[in-house]
Amino acid sequence: MASKTLPEPLSAKYKDSFAYKTLSYRLPVIITKVIDLLCRQRKEITSIDLQLPSDQQTEAEEETKQLIEELAKLKYELQTNKPIKPIISTLPDAKAWNDLLADEYRKNNDVTYYNVIWLLSECYFYRMMREIFIRSKYFQNFDHFFTAKKESFKLCIKPAEKLATHLLSLSNDEQSFDQESTFKFYTMHSLWGNKLDLSISCGERNQTGDFDLNELESKILVNDLKNFWYYLKQLSTNINDKQSYRIDIILDNAGYELFTDFCWLEAMHTIGLLPKDKIIVHIHVKCMPWFVSDTMTNDIKWLLKYINDTPEISSNLKNLNNRFNENFRHRRWIVEEHDFWTLPHDYAQMSRIAPELYQNLCNESCLVLFKGDLNYRKLIGDLKWDIGTSFKQALREFQPKAICALRTIKADVVVDINDPITIERIKQFPKDWMEIGEYAVIHFLKN
Ligand SMILES: [Mg+2]
Repeated sequence: MASKTLPEPLSAKYKDSFAYKTLSYRLPVIITKVIDLLCRQRKEITSIDLQLPSDQQTEAEEETKQLIEELAKLKYELQTNKPIKPIISTLPDAKAWNDLLADEYRKNNDVTYYNVIWLLSECYFYRMMREIFIRSKYFQNFDHFFTAKKESFKLCIKPAEKLATHLLSLSNDEQSFDQESTFKFYTMHSLWGNKLDLSISCGERNQTGDFDLNELESKILVNDLKNFWYYLKQLSTNINDKQSYRIDIILDNAGYELFTDFCWLEAMHTIGLLPKDKIIVHIHVKCMPWFVSDTMTNDIKWLLKYINDTPEISSNLKNLNNRFNENFRHRRWIVEEHDFWTLPHDYAQMSRIAPELYQNLCNESCLVLFKGDLNYRKLIGDLKWDIGTSFKQALREFQPKAICALRTIKADVVVDINDPITIERIKQFPKDWMEIGEYAVIHFLKN
């Protein structure tokens, strides 16, 4: 599709937009919480998180003052709509960032936070936060959102234990489950696990993951679950005895959502939709702290270790965790990091910006499963599509073999809503229905 026919991108220049609310309210609250964390917990951070020897702790504590000053400066620049400048950094993503910014300077004579597209300003904010820590002496490997991510999972132990008991009961008696309804049950948990997003709640940890799936079903506005099921069923039936095949999951949040994603994979292994001896799962994570709760490699390590080491956790949850560990040990599950996931580019640009990643997803993978809101925004380009636009059209040049998006809606973009009853229902929804994560979509597309 020629670019001139594309809709306009979302931007904070529109004062009634969620982009505006994000830049003027959510992001300042998020950075203030990081400043607060460094103020209140500098001793614990240097001794426990960074595990520095005692002779370096004082100097590192002193360095937090510098970090706080720089974070406060970044907050000020955001709030006073200062220019978005090229990134000077030792990290390898700087070139891709600066090439994109150079394009932006050519097109736009006011490249400021509120005047560029939302995807660019929000990604730039998180990238610049990372830059502050990267330039430090002691905090280069510090994840400033790690505490929030850990604490949010600890609130969800009870539902996690409940789900573990359910999953283990499946494997004890293979006759006892119906494959399709079990597929649906775990897909729903993985979908609604996406409600627990700390960037939307500005880091507030108040949700427990105990969902009423029946009640939530009516809130799925596009539901391609049946086609997703047929596809996986067909895949598992047609697979040649000698072949192994690959699927990819592009994660969103750590904590309870990550746990439900692992449960989804393990349940699909157990019920034979993704047979353990045939399947390799590539699990894609972020390579830097991103949108507060996004999953990094260390969050996966922490989750597995926390469940293993915490005495109060039920034996069922520990047993399930052992299976997760085994999947990693046998390389059925492989964690992958790629810079592309923390660039501001949308996924239609992947073939140009990260060609090897795109080729792998298109040629090697039987399914690319995207979790969450930011992935969704990048899939459809964060553009103001008419809600009736087809998912395929909104994906533009990004066309892997089979793609599924599981997303609770937390930004004012959505496509593929054509059903007249749903369109009527939406008219009765609260004004902010696209911002609150109460509604969801399941898109599936086979090319
Ligand atoms: Mg996220």
